[in-house]
Amino acid sequence: MISEQKYWNPVLETLPHEKIRKLQLEKFKKIFSWAYERSRFHRGLYEKAGIKPGDIRSFEDIRRIPTVEKSMMRGIQLKDPFPYGDALCVPLEEVSEFRQTSGTTGQPVYQADTWQDWEWWAESWAYILWAQGYRPKDRVFIPFGYNVFVAFWAGHYAVEKIGAEVVPGGVLDTQARILKIQELQCTAMMATPTYVLGMADTAKSKMGIDPRSLAIRKITCAGEPGASIPSTKKRMEEAWGAKVYDHAGATEIGAWCFECEAQAGGLHVNEAFFLVEIQDTKTGETIEEPGRRGKMIITALDREAQPCVRFDSKDIIEWAQEPCPCGRSFRLIKGGVVGRADDITKVKGVLLAPSAIEEVVRGMDSLADEFEVIVDKEGDIDRITLKIEILKGREDERKRIEAQLKDQLRLKTNLGYNLEFHDHGTLPRYDVKAKRFKDLRGKH
Ligand SMILES: [Zn+2]
Repeated sequence: MISEQKYWNPVLETLPHEKIRKLQLEKFKKIFSWAYERSRFHRGLYEKAGIKPGDIRSFEDIRRIPTVEKSMMRGIQLKDPFPYGDALCVPLEEVSEFRQTSGTTGQPVYQADTWQDWEWWAESWAYILWAQGYRPKDRVFIPFGYNVFVAFWAGHYAVEKIGAEVVPGGVLDTQARILKIQELQCTAMMATPTYVLGMADTAKSKMGIDPRSLAIRKITCAGEPGASIPSTKKRMEEAWGAKVYDHAGATEIGAWCFECEAQAGGLHVNEAFFLVEIQDTKTGETIEEPGRRGKMIITALDREAQPCVRFDSKDIIEWAQEPCPCGRSFRLIKGGVVGRADDITKVKGVLLAPSAIEEVVRGMDSLADEFEVIVDKEGDIDRITLKIEILKGREDERKRIEAQLKDQLRLKTNLGYNLEFHDHGTLPRYDVKAKRFKDLRGKH
């Protein structure tokens, strides 16, 4: 019985690491030649650097290959063929899927996939779902209209692929979705952390339904770092009486890492499908040892229509010290994606990752889930305002909460804050990805 299998792919997921490395090198050579021979963009980039497919013999050689950034993708798609541009490696008629990035800044990037690529998406998501305990008997609710964005489409097809049942919950509003989950006794769902908390709040405050009374026992998160921030994860798990698992992926990369049932404090990189390199952001050297943070350079080893070869993702990650107790040999990244190289900003000369503020706010049981951070200037000096909501019935504790919050924030971020307390339910709510961090200082 497939249901009794511990791993989706028992061979690849437990392959000794030196064998995975060998496989990665072989696959890399193949995808590099593919991009070199078929994409005008890649060919130009590599010719300029003086690198040909025959030059790649080791991981050292790979490190000399120029990286590709998202900003280049926008230039690529201005070229022919419309609308994808000159990184396309297949004739247009072989493209079967159109997707676009969901980033909130700048022009979205269009992504072409062939049917084979699409199978690959579903397969990579099947690893995720299986590792998080999804089995054919599950009924999975997806509370989103997927539109042109890839994440939940791929999750949808993977649910079908592993033999479970999928309920697409698009178009419906939040209350209707909760009723559908209740009526169909859905056992799992996939959503952004913002929406997982928002749904629980709606169920409790507007419908008198305790989400724990529903049958949802697994929640797969995507799109935001929350499921790897311990205090946010705890809030979600307690609200739903369910296990909450993280996963990370991107339209132009693929679904490259996932948390498993062991919840060992990190995410497994799917090393059979992706080559992840961690690069020191200052020196550019490759970081092999655990515990040192850098930005991720990633290659999707099998993706064909629009290849992802040494893509500079700007995600900040680090290798974990210990292997995972689940027995998978795919390496773990500790604490998931801990930030992005371009959203870690300097405030009063101190580096600030918004996720550190989230960890503090969500760790306090007297505060509601929502918060907002505004960085601006008071004269020449940076000022951070943190807006939080105090829970009903806890208003009397405001002085104590204020002192505790200031202490915790100082400890975790080395900065002082201007705190603004709001009534529960008055800060803006978001349906998918939240925009809680606003930098109003302007660019210099
Ligand atoms: Zn594991």
